[in-house]
Amino acid sequence: MPIRDAALLLLGHGSTLNADSSAPTYQHAEELRRRGDFAEVHVAFWKEEPNFRQALRQTGRRQVYVVPNFISSGYFTEQIIPRELGLTGPVTRLGGRDIFYCQPVGLNPAMTEALLRRAGEVVASSEEKIADPAKTACLFICGHGTSLNDNSTKIIHEQAEAIRARGLYADCQPVLMEQRPFVKDWHTLTDCPDVVVVPFFISDGLHSFEDIPVLLGLTHNIKEQGFTNPHCEKERRLWYATAIGTEAFIADVILAQVRQFQNEHLETRNLGDAMGEGPDIGQELVQFMEQTPSPWKIGEIAIRPTQDDSYHLLHQDDLESDPASLRILPSPEDLRELIRLDREGNFRPLRAAPNLRRGWLLHAQNLPSLRLALDYLYPAALANWTLWKQSTLPTTPWRETAERQTGRFRIVREIDEAAIQELVAHVCRPGCLKRRLWPPTAQLVEALPSEIPLPCPEACNFLVGKAREKLKGPDEE
Ligand code: SF4
Repeated sequence: MPIRDAALLLLGHGSTLNADSSAPTYQHAEELRRRGDFAEVHVAFWKEEPNFRQALRQTGRRQVYVVPNFISSGYFTEQIIPRELGLTGPVTRLGGRDIFYCQPVGLNPAMTEALLRRAGEVVASSEEKIADPAKTACLFICGHGTSLNDNSTKIIHEQAEAIRARGLYADCQPVLMEQRPFVKDWHTLTDCPDVVVVPFFISDGLHSFEDIPVLLGLTHNIKEQGFTNPHCEKERRLWYATAIGTEAFIADVILAQVRQFQNEHLETRNLGDAMGEGPDIGQELVQFMEQTPSPWKIGEIAIRPTQDDSYHLLHQDDLESDPASLRILPSPEDLRELIRLDREGNFRPLRAAPNLRRGWLLHAQNLPSLRLALDYLYPAALANWTLWKQSTLPTTPWRETAERQTGRFRIVREIDEAAIQELVAHVCRPGCLKRRLWPPTAQLVEALPSEIPLPCPEACNFLVGKAREKLKGPDEE
């Protein structure tokens, strides 16, 4: 079966504190959706909605390619993702579907091209140029480095070696934040008068915006005004790029990772039908709209049909507003910016929080476009609602969610049932429109006839973060 009949599921880490973390995963998913290489493109995150456990519910496609948008293989790609998605190897037969688990994005050989492009772009976009990089410039590929996982540094060394072999730069070396060769020693590692540094990270954040610039000796935060390339540091000219994960070419790298998987695993397989045995979310939604009067409601959103068989989405509080006074959003992708911040301009980690901004109207041209818009607004909510209607939505008790937490979040295992009830009273009851189905805090799911309720099948990462905060105090990114 060609990949245009299959779904792509792109997995990122995400964050409950920082909107930049998931942005590249959304960016590449949107680009691949726009190209139409796959029948459907979905995203899921470890720390954001939709989470990994709900990831596969978003599609009923018979074949799903899962690509981790991670730099290297390791703990997340080898343990967390297989466990959360129920994968047993490169090919997993799950609920009548084939799930194809590809290698992480950072491991594809095409990543070398992405690094070279990013390095070329950062110099091209500055006023000063490098006349002949093969004679005067050293390219540093900058990673985190950790003694816990050799793979994360191995790939950085390999990429530096591959670029060095091409001879496009006088030199190319790996540098690391927490291991040798250290970023802070960059000026002792090369004699080149021109230096280009590309952070080998999936997203921009604290490391690329603040930590690495400080280690390089740059005086400006890259996000602050006044940051321009190149810098004069240690009598060299230094260009500093943003994280490689935001490079547009990564969409091609993701596609290359799927093609590589096909070459390695699928040559002799019988590829079967396009649709699997999963719930038909589109059909359920159509049936609901045929059987109930409009406007239909979901969370804070109202949906109105239009005369040309398309749909208008807007905030319910704007239903009586003059449409001419509303800002028109031309495509579902425009919602990504809208849902990031609440009415006061603060980061909005909880999608079902009742603080969505007003004053806009989205024209969804067809059913797939409507579904995509609702997935931006309430990730995986349609899938959960469909399963809930069919009485097949799995729920996860708090104890099980707590036991799955790792690293800094492992401590929430200490929270008992009484404490979680108390936390829910503070976090969920006033601050979320979803209805909990998970023990010990399960509640009745009630909805008006034209309303799609938002079931909550398990404690979300936001609540887990609050549970940690209860024990350890406020968190930092
Ligand atoms: Fe909302 Fe609470 Fe469910 Fe999180 S756990 S999605 S805050 S109801």
